[in-house]
Amino acid sequence: MSMNVLIDNARIADLFGTCLERGHVIVEAGRIARVGEGASPAVPELKRLDAAGRLLTPGLVNAHAHLYSSLARGVPLAAFSPSGFREILEQLWWKLDRALDARSVYVSAQVGALALLRSGVTAMFDHHASPVAIEGSLSQLKRGLKEVGLRASVCYEITDRGGAAERDAGLAENVRFAQEEREPGRFAAHMGLHASFTLSDETLAKAAAASEELGLSVHMHLAEGKEDPVDALQRQGTRTAERLDRHGLLGEGALLAHGIHLAQAEVELLAERRGSVIHNPRSNMNNAVGAAKVSAMHARGVPIGLGTDGFGTSVIEEALCARLLAHHVEGSPTALGDDVLLDILGHNYTLAGRLFEVPMGHMKQGYAADLVLWDYDPPTPMEGPSVLGHLLFAAISEGLRPHGVLIAGEPVYWDGAHRTLEEHAVLAQSRETARALWSRMR
Ligand SMILES: [Zn+2]
Repeated sequence: MSMNVLIDNARIADLFGTCLERGHVIVEAGRIARVGEGASPAVPELKRLDAAGRLLTPGLVNAHAHLYSSLARGVPLAAFSPSGFREILEQLWWKLDRALDARSVYVSAQVGALALLRSGVTAMFDHHASPVAIEGSLSQLKRGLKEVGLRASVCYEITDRGGAAERDAGLAENVRFAQEEREPGRFAAHMGLHASFTLSDETLAKAAAASEELGLSVHMHLAEGKEDPVDALQRQGTRTAERLDRHGLLGEGALLAHGIHLAQAEVELLAERRGSVIHNPRSNMNNAVGAAKVSAMHARGVPIGLGTDGFGTSVIEEALCARLLAHHVEGSPTALGDDVLLDILGHNYTLAGRLFEVPMGHMKQGYAADLVLWDYDPPTPMEGPSVLGHLLFAAISEGLRPHGVLIAGEPVYWDGAHRTLEEHAVLAQSRETARALWSRMR
């Protein structure tokens, strides 16, 4: 049950034009009911939260993440010397995911969701793999996410890398979750697929048929490394996106993470089909897989969103890195300017709004009351067009941390602490779980 709340004495802003130096927000039934300037009139029936002049904005959406990677921080790897992207998967991620059991999946979701919340993320789209514990794994993620309070869409990555039985179990887990565990407004589902180069045509056809039956869009990696185009050209004589399009997987709502090694014809195809490329610049730089041609794709009309790929949690820092990477590779200090970056962040809200059936991202009546009260007191004037710049530079200067977070009108985090979870206990449990997980990695 969401409560009715009055947040008073806040600096109120969003990325799309709203900016009030002092105002109040009334939240009813999980949505913003009123945004007003100045102090609020007394409303005794509302729970009053004093913002003490802090900055109140909509929460952020992370459009591609892997919660299980929360347990990878500091993992000791005896022999880690990858020569390329496939070997990064083989020497790290495919060892880690194969060591996951039900408990570590749950703990990774709990600690990962808490870290996202502490970065001001209120909705996320997860992409999951735990090949030894497939059945029920999405419910374990949901359990962890629910305790923290995030809205989420989850999926299990179907792949042929572990053989037909694992492939079928992955598909069945997506179907089971979509049929039994979706909760309107809180938990949504995608059809998860790994990436073209680990998927046969038979598997793509099966996933496409199940997606259509359940009304799901896919969430998968697209041309992250060169492996995808090389494999698609060798095995099918086609480019990656064209191959996926033969199975009808690129439609509106599809989340296609990375989109780096794409030919112009594939960009044209994506613009036409309306699937979203989800950009993850920091992960891409770390994996040395190249830079997505974001400016060109955006100019051509490809819908573009932003994720972290589990490499960090802050969507604001990711947005700044997207800009820095674009400046660097394009040799232009104006690449990925405010208009483009706002389109990208706005698209995250559009995607989440569709999945959770509520408009998101604006401080306006009727929008989701997914709100972050940041510990931020601007050192320079903050006016409508400068809100994005304030957030980007606060994130890399003194840091940007929430004092409070409301999701669907519920204050899940306040005074710098989660309302129901004891963070030190969660972290202690996570350390213990990670140690056990690492000992199982082969
Ligand atoms: Zn990913």
